[in-house]
Parts: sequence; structure tokens; C-alpha cells
Amino acid sequence: MSFSVLGLDPKILQAVKEAGYTEPTPIQSQAIPPILAGHDLIGIAQTGTGKTAAFTLPMLTRLASVIGDGKSRGTRALILAPTRELVVQIHDNVRAYGQHLPLRVATIFGGVGEHPQIDALRAGTHLIIACPGRLMDLMQRRYADFSQLQYLVLDEADRMLDMGFIPAIRQIVRSLPPKRQTLMFSASLSKEIETLTHEFQRAPKIVQIGRRANPAETVTQLVYEVPKHLKPALLLHLLKDPAMDMVLVFSRMKHAADRVARNLEQSGIKTATLHSNRSQNQRLKALKDFKSGAVRVLVATDIAARGIDVDGISHVVNYDFPMQAEDYVHRIGRTGRAHAVGDAISFVTHEDQGELRALERFIGRGIVRKKAEGFNYSASPPPFNPMDEERRRPQPRGQRPQRHQQRSQHAASPPRAAQSGRPQSGGGSRPPSRSSGQPQPVSGNREGANLRNFAGRPPVPSGSRRYGSR
Ligand code: AMP
Repeated sequence: MSFSVLGLDPKILQAVKEAGYTEPTPIQSQAIPPILAGHDLIGIAQTGTGKTAAFTLPMLTRLASVIGDGKSRGTRALILAPTRELVVQIHDNVRAYGQHLPLRVATIFGGVGEHPQIDALRAGTHLIIACPGRLMDLMQRRYADFSQLQYLVLDEADRMLDMGFIPAIRQIVRSLPPKRQTLMFSASLSKEIETLTHEFQRAPKIVQIGRRANPAETVTQLVYEVPKHLKPALLLHLLKDPAMDMVLVFSRMKHAADRVARNLEQSGIKTATLHSNRSQNQRLKALKDFKSGAVRVLVATDIAARGIDVDGISHVVNYDFPMQAEDYVHRIGRTGRAHAVGDAISFVTHEDQGELRALERFIGRGIVRKKAEGFNYSASPPPFNPMDEERRRPQPRGQRPQRHQQRSQHAASPPRAAQSGRPQSGGGSRPPSRSSGQPQPVSGNREGANLRNFAGRPPVPSGSRRYGSR
């Protein structure tokens, strides 16, 4: 099927062509016609299926005639998404698909100055992409006028639910014009999502797209059993391989992520970190540098990594073994995307063995154990370093060891590509990533199991798990 039969605006078709898409993905060919016909829609689709274009292309087509020559004012469309990173990625997509329209678009999320966002709301920007928290705040302060709103999109509704955004979303939706088209996208159709659709939508059409390939089929998974104290050395050893040219390393805790990054930087490997202690600008810069190749390694915690969509990740390293099955699946889904061949490497210590076995039961297969060639597995632990203890102990601001501060600043300073430590074979800058989202559960019938951690313990309450000190 060709895009041209779907009834999209010629300017949108032009942008689609320039994006290099030759034919619509299944979610696009199924969702675009009912959206163009004005129906509310529930899209059950995983990330990687092309769902962002599935709602953006028809919405922009319908908006094209409304915004006319670009002189019209008034916010016509609102897209809500769970994370700042996802908002930025949707924004990139919307701008690419709407590049031939006089469309004004703005983003709204916390952690950055609110004045440009307030200006955008006041100016009646045509399309707003927002995280619910900051938007609700600005709406309560009466900066937003959504009286002309025609389209509402809830992207990754299941994740927004998961992250506790539903009260904010309810409040936002309550103040939108009831006569509007509402599109809701979710990876799965749970009871809670169904409740929301009844609340927010009218006679929605449902489009459901099968799961993308099981990551187990596209990602080579390996386990390296290693004593805990040798994890830093093993990571450095593996990074001698030039094939590891774009590496996403996961740690459980924020301070551990900083420690891993410091260690790599000290060994001349350009590294950025992504966790919730970093400012929004630092996080965006870390992602930008990772995408462009200015840094070779990105060390992230699970929460911060949600919504990352970076094409071309060569390896995911589970430096700390994930505690939840869903985290493992999310993590390894970061590589092997878009049919690239990727490797997912998990460091497994003695203490992680129970979780590893439970994970293998969960994914229904064993994971290959590998020994790193030439690595000294019998090296003894490093001598006790009081500085490490010092760093671990919480200290009041301004009294932290000078060395720590200097290194953190160094890690955040603008990297120079020439010094990135990236092997030359990796080559050039990477194409900008065009979309966002999450990988899918390992298999279709395991969503219930997703809620359990590997060892079959009851789920950690979502509040503490989502917002805990990771
Ligand atoms: P999404 O599911 O929206 O996260 O999209 C996943 C990836 O597919 C993104 O990199 C998109 O740019 C890409 N994409 C979307 N639609 C198409 C298409 N029709 N043909 C090829 N790639 C596409």
C-alpha cells in the first residue's frame, strides 16, 4: 500500500517522502483512515510500530486547512506524553512531518524555565506537546486557552497511568471542549485504560497491532558472571572491542551511574549520564551527545531511560542486573531496534543468580553464559579507599569533596567529538532519531508476569519503584 491512497494532505505526503518512508506501517494504514474520518480512536500498539506518525499525519492533514496561511491563532491540538524525553521526540516528529505547513508547535514540561512555555500558550500555538504535571500547573494559573481545541492525543496512556499522572490528566481533560476528537495510544488494553476510554472518548474505533518481534529474536543476549568488585574492570575490558561503539549502560542507582561514568571518563572513554538528579538541560544534552556520537557510552537508570529512542545502539550493558522483568525487557529493547543487530550484556554477580534464573523462566529460555577472553577473573578487590566511603555518605551541599565536583562538571562539559574515545570504525554522526517510546514485553501473554519481579516477589509499590532513588 502507498501513503498516497490514505487521503493525506499533499504537503504531509511530501514530508513523509522526505522522511524516507515508502509505505505505511500496519498501525498507520489502519489508524489513519478512521482518524481522518473524525472518529475517536484507541490504538493498541507498541513503540517501533510507527504509532507517532499514525496519529500525527492525519491530525496535521485535518489541521492544514484550519491553520491556513499560518496567521490563525488558537491551540487546536494537544498531545500528552509521560516523559520529557518522549515529548521532545514527538516534537521532533511533528516538526518533521509538518515542515511544509505554517504550523506553530511548542513543548511543555517541567525542569526547565516556564516563561517560553507560558509565552507559547498565550500566543495560541497551534499544537502543544506536554507532560501532564507542568501543563496542569500552567493551566491552574490560567495561562492556557484551549477553547478552540479540536484534537487531544494521549500517548503511552498505560505508562501515564503507571506513573500516577491520571489525576492530572483527568483535570486537564475536564477543562477541554467536550466536542473534540480524542486519540488514545497504549501498549496494552487494561481495565484501567478501558475506564479512561469510557471517560474521555465517544464510540472509539479500536486498532490493535500485533507485537513487534520478541526482542529475544533480534537481540543477542549474553550473561557475564563476574564478582561484584570486578564489574568496573570488566566493563572497561569489554569496551576495548571497537564494535561496542554506541553503548547504553544501565545501573540501578543514580550515584552508581555517576561512579561508572567517572570510571569510564578517567579511562578516556567519553561518557554521559542520564538520571533524575541531572537537570533537564543536562539530560537533553546527554541524549544529544549520545545520538551524535560525541559520547560513546550513556550510563542511565531505568526511570531516566524510559522513552529513549535512539537508533543504532550497538550494545546494552546491564551493569547492575535489573530487579524487575519489565525493566530487563525495556532495557534490552533499546538495542536491536529497527532490525539492527544488537547485543544485550548482563553482568551477573553471585547475589544476582536467583534473579537470573527467574528471568530465564520468565523469558522461557536460557541466556548464554560467556567468559570475557583475556580478562583476569581472579584479580583481588581494590584496597579500601576512604574517599569512596566519603563519597557514598550523604553530605550537605557545598561540602562535597572537591574532586567529586570537578569530575561531575567534567562529565557535563561539552564533549568534543574528536576526543570521544569512540573507535573510528563507528564513523560519523548518527542520523537524528525520529520517534520515541518503549519496547514491548517479551511475549504476548506475559503482561501479568511483568508486574512481578523475577524472584516472584510481590511488586514494589509503583510509587516507590517509579520515583525511588534510582
Ligand atoms: P514509533 O513507533 O512512532 O516510535 O516509530 C518507530 C520508528 O519507525 C521511528 O524511527 C519512525 O521514524 C519510523 N517510522 C515510522 N513510520 C514509518 C514508515 N512508514 N516507514 C519507515 N519507518 C517509519
